[in-house]
Amino acid sequence: MVRLLASSKPIGAPLGGTSLPLPRPFYARVVFLLFGFGTKRKYLGPGQNRTCPRCHNTTQWARIREFNQFTLFFVPVARWKRRQLEQCGICGTTVRV
Ligand SMILES: [Zn+2]
Repeated sequence: MVRLLASSKPIGAPLGGTSLPLPRPFYARVVFLLFGFGTKRKYLGPGQNRTCPRCHNTTQWARIREFNQFTLFFVPVARWKRRQLEQCGICGTTVRV
């Protein structure tokens, strides 16, 4: 005896009730991320009296801490490349301390 495997529905008949799942809208797949990179400088106070190699004025320089940072939603997450500098108050030249 030969059994034929055949669908009970005729070919081309509409799929009653079963439809493909609708694709999710595009905006549902977008993850909102707000991040930024930047170099920040923080004024630490007055530094030494130095003679500037660029403008040749002898003044009190400002002590500055400089670092690169990564922020996520305006919150600093990582900081690297920290260094202390002194900056000429007249021309802005910086010297690593
Ligand atoms: Zn200077």
